[in-house]
Amino acid sequence: MSKKKVLVTGGAGFIGGNFVQYMVNKYPDYDIFNLDQLTYAGDLTKHSAIEKMENYHFVKADIADREVIISLFEKENFDYVIHFAAESHVDRSITDPGIFVQTNVLGTQILLDASRAVGVTKFVHVSTDEVYGELDFDPTTFFTEDTPLQPNSPYSASKASSDLLVRAYHETYGLPVNITRCSNNYGPYHFPEKLIPLTISRVLNDQKVPVYGDGKNIRDWLHVIDHCAAIDLVMHEGVNGEVYNVGGHNERTNLEVVKTIIQTLGKSEELIEFVKDRLGHDKRYAIDPTKLENLGWKPTYNFETGIAQTIQWYLDNKEWWEQIISGDYQNYFEKQYSNK
Ligand code: NAD
Repeated sequence: MSKKKVLVTGGAGFIGGNFVQYMVNKYPDYDIFNLDQLTYAGDLTKHSAIEKMENYHFVKADIADREVIISLFEKENFDYVIHFAAESHVDRSITDPGIFVQTNVLGTQILLDASRAVGVTKFVHVSTDEVYGELDFDPTTFFTEDTPLQPNSPYSASKASSDLLVRAYHETYGLPVNITRCSNNYGPYHFPEKLIPLTISRVLNDQKVPVYGDGKNIRDWLHVIDHCAAIDLVMHEGVNGEVYNVGGHNERTNLEVVKTIIQTLGKSEELIEFVKDRLGHDKRYAIDPTKLENLGWKPTYNFETGIAQTIQWYLDNKEWWEQIISGDYQNYFEKQYSNK
């Protein structure tokens, strides 16, 4: 029997990168293709331990390039498509929404067309809880799969648009799809523009840590490996056409997260600097993952252990993030937080 071919889009980024490593190691009988355009958020140095493995392959391509994508699918005849590639940073979507529509909406539609043309076994669309909008601070309320989509940022609107296209390709053409909607991830190889790696990298350099508004916005944190295991399960066991929420009930205010990191690193809370709030900043996200738990998933990390291990990882892998924050990133950071 020939090996199953799994296309992972965005496999040079944070979650896609962790997923590629998880799959290459767990499934020697699958051929894992990492397709990535290598934007500012993608880098291949993270894959040095797997790049020579027989079941790992890399393709540099833009998911929004129809001709290239269609001919790649015709050549490789993928069995599974696990779709992570996206513009993923809310702040960047506020300053430049156009590329979010191009990559997240058009790119997804092209992948759906290509998947339909070759008749894939499964298309898993990796989405976000942000498509549901925001919750208030009542701790008994959660996003379920039936919560209406009410995205508030250009990023979440582009993800919600792609979710609807994925749904429509199932309803209209019978494409075997799943949509996963996960809460905020943390863990190794997280790009240092996002809250947790931003805080770790700045605290380690004794630099001020910008915190939006009063820091009371709540996010629901999940270790990236628990997210990878969820996608593995959905890809193999998910009921076609279904949406699965992914989350581990780890709600923390942004300020709590920043203080935990500062305390763990033995630094002073004077490093915290409150800055002008993000436009349209969602108050709270919190996931009800019951449906996925009923499919057989449960998270393995609690936040305290996971964050301690993540901080240690950033201490052990300074080279990786220092190379990122030394380039264009500095310009981005100064522009983003100059307007306090
Ligand atoms: P990331 O920004 O770290 O990585 C995105 C990857 O996609 C990069 O490697 C980039 O080079 C690639 N890419 C971007 N545009 C591309 C294009 N046009 N063609 C091919 N490749 C392209 O993102 P992430 O945080 O790993 O998120 C991955 C996915 O998971 C996204 O779809 C995001 O919406 C979703 N998600 C993220 C989180 C989170 O907490 N980070 C939570 C839930 C869902």
